[in-house]
Amino acid sequence: MVLTTLTAHSRNVIVTADMDLPALAHVVADGIVTLTLNVSESGSSFPPATRVFFKDTLARLKGTHEKTAARIRKFVENDLRKETNGLFLAAGDSTWHAAEFAVPLRNFVHVGRSPYVAPLLEVEQRAPRALVARVHHREAVLQEVQRGVWRDLDRLEPPAGPARKEGKAVGKTRDRFDQSAERATDAMLRDAAKKLASRAGTPPPAAVFVVGDRECFTTFREHLPSALGERTSYLGPSPRQEKDFPRKVAAELEKQHRDRVERELLALHERRAQAHLVATGARETLEHMTSGRAARVFLACDDPLPGSRCETCGQRYAGAEEKCSFCSGRIAPVSLTHEAVAYALAHPPLAITFVPAPAKWLAEAGGMAALLAEKSAAPKKR
Ligand SMILES: [Zn+2]
Repeated sequence: MVLTTLTAHSRNVIVTADMDLPALAHVVADGIVTLTLNVSESGSSFPPATRVFFKDTLARLKGTHEKTAARIRKFVENDLRKETNGLFLAAGDSTWHAAEFAVPLRNFVHVGRSPYVAPLLEVEQRAPRALVARVHHREAVLQEVQRGVWRDLDRLEPPAGPARKEGKAVGKTRDRFDQSAERATDAMLRDAAKKLASRAGTPPPAAVFVVGDRECFTTFREHLPSALGERTSYLGPSPRQEKDFPRKVAAELEKQHRDRVERELLALHERRAQAHLVATGARETLEHMTSGRAARVFLACDDPLPGSRCETCGQRYAGAEEKCSFCSGRIAPVSLTHEAVAYALAHPPLAITFVPAPAKWLAEAGGMAALLAEKSAAPKKR
């Protein structure tokens, strides 16, 4: 079993595991630049579109955020790892959060009073955690992939049975040998299923993929708890080229993600057609979020809708107000998209669907929408 390609993958790339998203979303300071870059297949230089975007962005930041721009330039030009495909940076006078990803991010920049974390959440959804099992008669290998980073979990072999005596295994002896080999394989697959289940964790993995021997797959899945078995799919025999395998898994995860988004959008469009339990526009959506009625919020990751928010009572406004109409408090500019994402991160299971661009209907609906839950008998207090 050759795992070198995968090991190389996992050695190189990096870490947002320690990045606490809800906490990062609530950092407040003046002039925080959030920059994400697609630096995929960069080799010695970035993709042309990224180079142009990066140069323009630095030029724009220079007048107003000189120091931050210089630090960003230095980091991107000198410190980026060769294996990185996507970069997230949130930088300000006293703020510095960098995360490098094995999966590409889009070129995007936002300047505001908080790190704009929507792209991080989007990457979590696009390249979620999945478990992978490679099963054969003589070996089972368990792995985990998250955000395109691979990790080896376990490797199992069948328990040692009676050794085959070369050339002498005929007739009954041979049958016995085959039976005991089969039992040993079965025991190994059962153990592998148990080990995989113990790694499932909460939240459960988005998917379980199995490659290798089809018979072994069937046995392996039978031994998985049913909740996990339902998420399990067979990707065929082991790939001939080891390097094709991570790509195949990534493509499968992206497809599942696209299908999921499509189903969620379908549900929203149905509700909109019936004008039933649905909210549209940033102000209405945010109101339903804070009142606890929104169940799923739809927004565009790369469209940080500008708005404002009262620093005293937290009331949000779609426009730029002079002062709060509720408490006369001071008003600060915010991104309403960021406000929605930060709120959702702090209030699970409130869910976010990132609507793929371009979405004209979403822009026409005010840039944000939500599915609402039926009013409960005892509505939540604000
Ligand atoms: Zn107020």
